[in-house]
Amino acid sequence: MGFCINCGNQHHDGVRFCRFCGTGQPSEQLLARLRAEAEQIRLLRMQIQQQQAHAQNDAYARLEAMRQQAEAAARMNNQQNQQYRPPGW
Ligand SMILES: [Zn+2]
Repeated sequence: MGFCINCGNQHHDGVRFCRFCGTGQPSEQLLARLRAEAEQIRLLRMQIQQQQAHAQNDAYARLEAMRQQAEAAARMNNQQNQQYRPPGW
């Protein structure tokens, strides 16, 4: 079963013209090609989504590493400040 590309009514597979509106229907060959293309596009979109998720994870990991570095640097700074504090303060 397929659907008319013009009026959307259901018709049997392989019909060349819609029995409701008379519009010529794409051939099975064309439909098969379109289905294959749609499947390829779906797979590509999935790959892109995975890559985006991966890139996002990488960015988060880099940010977290930077944050930890900054924290460690701040801690060292703090310790040095305490060490170099003149006596009597
Ligand atoms: Zn139709």
